Amino acid sequence: VKTDRFTSAYRFRIYPNTKQQRMLLVVLELCRRLYNYAVCQRKDTYKATGRTVHYEEQQNQLPQFKDQRPEYEQAHSQVLQDALRRVERAFTGFLEGRTRYPKYKKHGQCRSITFPQISNENIGSNSIILPKIGRVRMTKHRPIKGKPKTLTITLTKSGEWYTSITTELNPPNNNSNPRIIFNNPIGVDSGLVNYLYLSDGEHVDNPRFISNHAKRIIKAQKELSRKKRKVKRVVNVNGNSTTLKVPGSNWLKAKTILARRWRDYVNAKEDWQWKQANRLVNKHDFIGYENLPIRNMLKNHCLARAIQDAAWAGFWEKVESKAATAASTTTQKVPPQYTTQRCSKCGYKHKVALSERSFMCPNCGHFDDRDHNSSDVVLSDALQLYYKAFEKIVGMDVPEFTPAEIEPLPPNAEKPMMVASSIAETGNKFHTRVDEPGRGITRAEAHGFSNGRTSQPL
Ligand SMILES: [Zn+2]
Repeated sequence: VKTDRFTSAYRFRIYPNTKQQRMLLVVLELCRRLYNYAVCQRKDTYKATGRTVHYEEQQNQLPQFKDQRPEYEQAHSQVLQDALRRVERAFTGFLEGRTRYPKYKKHGQCRSITFPQISNENIGSNSIILPKIGRVRMTKHRPIKGKPKTLTITLTKSGEWYTSITTELNPPNNNSNPRIIFNNPIGVDSGLVNYLYLSDGEHVDNPRFISNHAKRIIKAQKELSRKKRKVKRVVNVNGNSTTLKVPGSNWLKAKTILARRWRDYVNAKEDWQWKQANRLVNKHDFIGYENLPIRNMLKNHCLARAIQDAAWAGFWEKVESKAATAASTTTQKVPPQYTTQRCSKCGYKHKVALSERSFMCPNCGHFDDRDHNSSDVVLSDALQLYYKAFEKIVGMDVPEFTPAEIEPLPPNAEKPMMVASSIAETGNKFHTRVDEPGRGITRAEAHGFSNGRTSQPL
């Protein structure tokens, strides 16, 4: 779906002083209570009358709600409206069957507030002005592009404050003009041994961040489980006293330390992924990758931890976002079916065991590294899909598409080849058909030349 507006988000750490922190915590708590109030109102009204309360109604009642509760003067009115909008979103998700019935938020469970409208004047070079809170120190580690729209303040579980600012940009111009010639197209196979295997032979080892961090995380978790909770006597409305288990200060400290260990792990991984994504997008103008069925893969319990650690979905999101901003790189997702089982030269399909690291085609004798073969398959699939979509855009008849796994070519069949750049050289570029496996672009030519493999370290 093409939108005429283009948004991006920036996350910066902020350092509110003690007084500002106290004020922010009060606002978080007020928003939590308002959220619970609004959920309760919807629940009760529906039970009593069968009527659904909507956002507009709750927003109109907000002034009256605030009149009865003077403490709400401390919160910005738009922040409160946003809390109501979150209730609306939670109920919409439930009614559309995507999420469960909205729950009440317990103490401390409301961790972010949103200012739905901010302007450039709120953002300084190393500070930010929050309405009703004041000027807060901020490390602005990169410039903000576009017009600022919304601002969200978050308190992480490890006790740090962050702001995320969304901005609106005009879309890059070349979006409307799909490209047909690529100088450096690449297909990528992602796996647990090689995190990335590029069709030009370059590969990146799986860093397995979890193995570096597991020791510290497990230690912090053990510390936390040793800490006891305080037993507190409370008297309820009826005058009966009961005991409650509440977190003590040592328990809370251990919990924060555990959250910090997880944060370190996530930060290290994210940083590495952004660097890899940047490198891919800077180097290649076409990137084909597999749309891996992560959910199905997680059913394999032996590999679940490693698969979660690899977090390919998050990685490809980063590549997509880099490619969208750079606007010089096209990305194409391909369905993952049989990419490891198909021969990149002749399209013949046969079962390859997971442990087998090399690929040997029984049909044409093509021998290759397993991951390299599948990255080649991914590239040709991606280019075929891309050109097929391209033909649709320009309104051409799309010839019947025959997937390689259904009809492999005979081993000695002559394979018509087409160089990526020759598409433009033919008289009418729309006559180009990339409709058969083996036809279209071969790996060597798509890379411009073939000089074997180059394995480049990071
Ligand atoms: Zn073959």
